[in-house]
Amino acid sequence: MGSFAEFASTLERVRSTSGKNEKVRILSEYLRGLDEDDAERATRFATGRASQKGSSEETQTGYSTIVDVIEDITGLSPRDISQVYVKYGDLGRAAEEVIPAKKEMTLFHEDLTLGAVSKTFDEMMQSKGKGSTLVKRGHLKSMLLRASPVEAKYLIKILTKEMRIGLVEGLVVEAIAAAYGLNMEAVRDADLLLGDVGLVARQARAGKLSEVKLELMRPTNFMLAEPMQTPEEIATYYQRQLYAEVKYDGVRAQLHKKRGEVRIFSRRLEDITASFPEIAAAAKRFGDDVLLDGEIVPFRDGRPLTFQMLQRRLRRIEGFEEAQANSPVRYFVFDLLMLDGVELYRRPLRERRELLGRVAEGTGFSLAEMSPAETAEEIARLFRASRSEGYEGLVVKDPESPYTPGRRGKWWVKLKEELDTLDVVIVGAELGHGKRAGRLSDYTFAVRDGAAFRVIGKAYSGLTDAEIEEMAVKIKAATIHDDGYYRTVDPELVIEVAFDSIQKSARHDSGFALRFPRIKSIRNDKTPEQVDTLERVRELYESQKVRSEP
Ligand code: AMP
Repeated sequence: MGSFAEFASTLERVRSTSGKNEKVRILSEYLRGLDEDDAERATRFATGRASQKGSSEETQTGYSTIVDVIEDITGLSPRDISQVYVKYGDLGRAAEEVIPAKKEMTLFHEDLTLGAVSKTFDEMMQSKGKGSTLVKRGHLKSMLLRASPVEAKYLIKILTKEMRIGLVEGLVVEAIAAAYGLNMEAVRDADLLLGDVGLVARQARAGKLSEVKLELMRPTNFMLAEPMQTPEEIATYYQRQLYAEVKYDGVRAQLHKKRGEVRIFSRRLEDITASFPEIAAAAKRFGDDVLLDGEIVPFRDGRPLTFQMLQRRLRRIEGFEEAQANSPVRYFVFDLLMLDGVELYRRPLRERRELLGRVAEGTGFSLAEMSPAETAEEIARLFRASRSEGYEGLVVKDPESPYTPGRRGKWWVKLKEELDTLDVVIVGAELGHGKRAGRLSDYTFAVRDGAAFRVIGKAYSGLTDAEIEEMAVKIKAATIHDDGYYRTVDPELVIEVAFDSIQKSARHDSGFALRFPRIKSIRNDKTPEQVDTLERVRELYESQKVRSEP
């Protein structure tokens, strides 16, 4: 049985070296000594997961539960713990520091194993409803009492999903390949197909990597599209007949239906079934067992609504009925990866699409709008049609292509219009977070409305460190009022911002907001009088023509 102490000390060594090759080497040597079960557990834990990817089960042990338990076993006050936490910004690291102070000791000290930890995590996940917090605390307490400080650190890092040891999933995949003498690309493909690194390690350890299969109710990674700039570029690249599909602006969703059961997964392979109960219910109408790919779009009266309408759904701030009434959705389906237990993803899109048409008949589900196209003119015409119906553009697909989970290649290309950029003036600034912490890097900006300036958005990033410094000096000089976290800035600094679309919004006094604004450049060459006007924002908004308002 693999000991948890050895797992923790291995990850400590991985953490303390900065070289990627060295990290891979340390992990692969460790993995080589484990059996299948432990290889699965160790790799999953090493990526900061207590459960399989796509599992709807979570241990649900938040910050406060963990702090409670630390308090309980160390006798420290919440304030003491919080001080140590603030020092590191990492609860696992904080636990490592305070755990030696524990006062209780279990009578019969039994070392933690990977198997025992995994079993305890499972029990924590299974515990639901009333009294479950107490049960979870009990489990965590018993583990922490048996744990050394370093073990405690890693137990908590897994529970908080904050591994922070510079070990991205790609490196774990490399380590699996190195540990068992396998081809890197083969391991990577298996990882993309299975969607869970623990399962990959198990198969690899067992020498059964080539037998990996898609399985219903377990998510696989999504196939991605590569951007191309123009219809000409697409036509010239392929020189043959293609499928031009409408590009929907919603949430990518994979739907699995097996007998009477349905599950829906997001692009991050999270279970989002509960956010879309009516889709899950309707999918029971499929006569066959299916694995579908498509896009969930906010939709009413034959037209797409703004993307914002979906946010409420995803955050599940409403009950089923309200959600249905407030943000109706439609699932546009464009691919079929499995049908009644048969894998189809390696077959050409042409065949998959035809089968999909047959399977979806009579279910009420819509297929993504698709038209054959070959020439640049045809593609351009379909692109314009898609835009004028309120969609984002096109995803153009090669009918001969297989479905390649998790890969972005030229089998699928996307064509979308970047709206014009806007020149805006900075009217406020805040200290940034994360990488930009402590630096004046988040700007509030405005367009001109006669003599006044009206706020239209906030943005960060896009600038180099040197540019952020340069701006910070100017912003400080232009500050009219500083209330600590927000500076009101005299409108003098002009920047150019790109964005995905313009939305109506009550948040800003312009009445509009840019979606996904990003700073393209500093426009020292422009004066505040020359920035874009509210009138132009209105025109751009209208020219999107599109989305009916919520
Ligand atoms: P982007 O988000 O701009 O990288 O574009 C790729 C995304 O477009 C995919 O991940 C899907 O969520 C979405 N999409 C919308 N319509 C389609 C379609 N017909 N085929 C494939 N992807 C689509």
